Amino acid sequence: MAYKLPPLPYAYDALEPYYDEQTVRIHHDKHHAGYVAGLNKAEEELAAARASGDYALIKHWERELVFHGSGHILHTMFWENMTPEGGGEPSGALAMRIAKDFGDLDAFRAQFSAAANAVEGSGWCVLGWVSTLAKLVILQIEKHQDLSLCGVVPLLVIDVWEHAYYLKYQNRRGEWLSNWWNIVNWADVASRFAEARK
Ligand code: MN
Repeated sequence: MAYKLPPLPYAYDALEPYYDEQTVRIHHDKHHAGYVAGLNKAEEELAAARASGDYALIKHWERELVFHGSGHILHTMFWENMTPEGGGEPSGALAMRIAKDFGDLDAFRAQFSAAANAVEGSGWCVLGWVSTLAKLVILQIEKHQDLSLCGVVPLLVIDVWEHAYYLKYQNRRGEWLSNWWNIVNWADVASRFAEARK
């Protein structure tokens, strides 16, 4: 069964002025759609290889599977991690855990923004839960096809590929980051955190 591009959970212009309509439209309808198409193609090719027993291109299609699969998963989370009613502060168990693992919310935001700003080239910054360590962690993902940390469950992600912000912010990634905090959907992050700790 083919994967489908999930619709945006809000209107294209809903995150203005922090995230502009044109970038959101291209980012979702072109870039994210491209990952969904690439994931479906990889799945088709892997099914064909299983049917024929010809695994000559297995490395290529496994890599395509991870590149497009991670792209699809991360973008889906990225859209849900934002909301027009976002910003403010997290509450409840998530807020307490952030305070425990990072000191306080300001310290968390400072570390997350610094990590996102310092991702070399294309990539992501992620807040994740590692159940085996019982700890929240901030991770940089320089190439999402290489994404691997055994046991981490991502909770909050920001896209720092240039296509995610360049139309509006050009080389000012730091400005994209500081404005992005105004649209973070803390309720979504909290429900992911609750799910991860079950
Ligand atoms: Mn992107």
